[in-house]
Amino acid sequence: MKIGFIGLGNMGGPMAANLAKAGHEVTGFDMADVKIEGLRMAGSAAAAAKEARVVITMLPNGDILRKVADEIIPAMGTGTVLLDCSTVDVESARDVAAQAQAAGLSALDAPVSGGVGGAAGGTLTFMVGGDEAGFNIAKELFDIMGQKAVHCGPSGNGQAAKICNNMILGATMIATCEAFALADKLGLERQAMFDVVSTSSGYSWSMNAYCPAPGIGPKSPADNGYQPGFAADLMLKDLRLSQQAAEAVDADTPIGRAACDLYADFVEKEDGKGRDFSAMLPRFETRGRG
Ligand code: NAD
Repeated sequence: MKIGFIGLGNMGGPMAANLAKAGHEVTGFDMADVKIEGLRMAGSAAAAAKEARVVITMLPNGDILRKVADEIIPAMGTGTVLLDCSTVDVESARDVAAQAQAAGLSALDAPVSGGVGGAAGGTLTFMVGGDEAGFNIAKELFDIMGQKAVHCGPSGNGQAAKICNNMILGATMIATCEAFALADKLGLERQAMFDVVSTSSGYSWSMNAYCPAPGIGPKSPADNGYQPGFAADLMLKDLRLSQQAAEAVDADTPIGRAACDLYADFVEKEDGKGRDFSAMLPRFETRGRG
């Protein structure tokens, strides 16, 4: 398949490389001067999109996606697919999809979970919004770049699924970290805390699969000095998108908002920038109630 790939950063680079390795003809474009093995590089986003059956975008935010969409949609042929894998606000995803559909294209929003490791290993999970026809064309590409693709409904629903999931993740990580810090002060050993909670009703992915306490549970970024993993900065981005969406539809999300405020302090006022999002535990360890 002829594929255009725009945005070849930490995630897009390895995803595009995996498509090329699988035998697809991938033409790439990035604003920065990057080279990816197996890709032919184009001089503009529109040139990368021209003649492609599917154009994939993997960009930093909704404003950039809108700008790139304005450039590439006129260059794409009727019936081709615009597949955005970036994490962006629901409104931008829906507006870009409407713009693509008006030009006779299929549009999918397909944000991912799995991070840079998942992108390199081809083990991402895609949460997909958009039409069935586009999903069926893109399916073979999801199978190369990832291990699972869930069709969540119409345009924007992929982004909705991603931010709802990550709102739960941010909140449960904070709850897990504050509970560990409380347990420390109560004299409860971390191993005992893990053994109880991971098999009791307080269990979660944050505790069981990504335990924020070093040396406890399965290997996680806590065992590697809280090098990300999933950076607190990216968690903050996703929590902000969740609150932006909640405001747009008048949804009451008090815990999501509290999680967003805490990660904002952690990243912007404390030492959280560039650290894994589970480094909330050392943050709580050193604090009292005041
Ligand atoms: P990145 O900053 O490494 O890559 C973005 C790339 O887009 C850069 O190479 C940049 O030069 C390029 N770019 C920016 N504006 C452009 C333009 N107008 N035209 C062409 N290229 C342009 O970011 P990333 O980590 O690869 O993340 C990409 C997306 O994936 C984001 O939306 C992010 O939230 C999401 N995401 C990231 C992770 C992760 O762990 N890094 C995990 C899940 C989802």
